Amino acid sequence: DKPILEVKKLKKHFHLGGGRVLKAVDDLSFAINRGETFGLVGESGCGKSTAGRTIIRLYEATSGEVLFNGENIHKLNAKNKLQYNRNMQMVFQDPYASLDPRMTIGKIIAEGIDIHKLYTGKQRSDRVSQLLNDVGLNEEHAGRFPHEFSGGQRQRVGIARALAIEPQFIIADEPISALDVSVQAQVVNLFKKLQKDRGLTYLFIAHDLAMVRHISDRIGVMYLGKMVEVTTSEKLNAKPLHPYTQSLLSAIPIPDPDVQKKRVRVILQGEVPSPLNPPSGCPFRTRCPHAMKECAESMPPFKEVETGHYTACHLY
Ligand code: SF4
Ligand code: MG
Repeated sequence: DKPILEVKKLKKHFHLGGGRVLKAVDDLSFAINRGETFGLVGESGCGKSTAGRTIIRLYEATSGEVLFNGENIHKLNAKNKLQYNRNMQMVFQDPYASLDPRMTIGKIIAEGIDIHKLYTGKQRSDRVSQLLNDVGLNEEHAGRFPHEFSGGQRQRVGIARALAIEPQFIIADEPISALDVSVQAQVVNLFKKLQKDRGLTYLFIAHDLAMVRHISDRIGVMYLGKMVEVTTSEKLNAKPLHPYTQSLLSAIPIPDPDVQKKRVRVILQGEVPSPLNPPSGCPFRTRCPHAMKECAESMPPFKEVETGHYTACHLY
């Protein structure tokens, strides 16, 4: 089966003036299979949100390709562009900022329905009621305003809005990181349930590998605008290849002391370099415990080291 989404050498560079260029997303390549959850992780500022926004075309790509169901989205005509917009929706990080405070919940949820002229009148209000129920709210909520809801409830509204036009693919950009810990699991479970019921595919963006590895089928790890490793959650847990991934994993506490004892701890030196002035060669070399001479000289290619396991590191 063809992947639902293929990203090929995607770049998003921002020209900041004074000749400074922020290479927020630099040469990203990966694919997402239909029906899976692909977790995209990395520290803040690594470019993961920019990648999501470029894929959904909130930003125009600097170069590279995005294929959705095999079609290059940068070459779509107007009609297919509208269809693409219907098939891909985004859930944003901040459930406070992403809902218009002057609009009722019903109006917010129905926005896409109205734009795409899918339903009117009773059909439209039935659809909104159904969506509210699907995300664990109820139809009485339709006439209320965002400030009347908690963070977790608002994020449910954000999810209902994304689902309203029945997309195949949802990009969720840190959808739980602004929520209280007590409601995070509930929202994650809602994502899982909706995926099961609707056959959705997710690109799930997160800085927290501990959380994302539990809900993702496969994971991509980004560092300073580059993808450094892609593989299944199991392989990433059992045998991470890239030293950066190893450091992220070794920072997650393990409840079992015997397992904890056996694990190699990788403590990173120094800070993340400025993305405006990344190191030559491998971007991770200033913090990598294994850095060698060639790491400063050339950027390691992103390649398949074992079946389905990709990494960019001169050790392999
Ligand atoms: Fe470390 Fe070199 Fe591999 Fe980069 S290429 S992660 S510096 S060993
Ligand atoms: Mg972000």
